[in-house]
Amino acid sequence: MQILLVEDDRPLAKGLQQALQKQGYAVNHVETGQACLHVVKTEPPDILVLDLGLPDIDGLAVLKQIRQHTKSLPVLLLTARDSANDKVAGLDGGADDYLAKPFEMAELLARLRVLERRLSTVKSAEICIGD
Ligand code: CA
Repeated sequence: MQILLVEDDRPLAKGLQQALQKQGYAVNHVETGQACLHVVKTEPPDILVLDLGLPDIDGLAVLKQIRQHTKSLPVLLLTARDSANDKVAGLDGGADDYLAKPFEMAELLARLRVLERRLSTVKSAEICIGD
């Protein structure tokens, strides 16, 4: 499972990357919205973990651009913004899930497993159609 982690907070990103790798995920880490868009286009991940507060493009704007190209990529938003309005904006903007910082690693991992399960359902359905 390939995860693209977009997070400009280096200590947090490093901790996340190590924890995810420990769970067997392959993690590609970038720090800007621009880099995220580039990687999504050139080497699409299975799951995108996207921080909203990025140094160049706002995470929500990044998400909107991604959704113009692909509806199927599972996206989990990470952010310090935890008001209801921000959650609604994130989910309406095309996110599949939303986690407010600070969060427990165990919760992030559980939410990723949910996205993963959904992904395998979609994939096996596609195989059935092909047959
Ligand atoms: Ca940030």
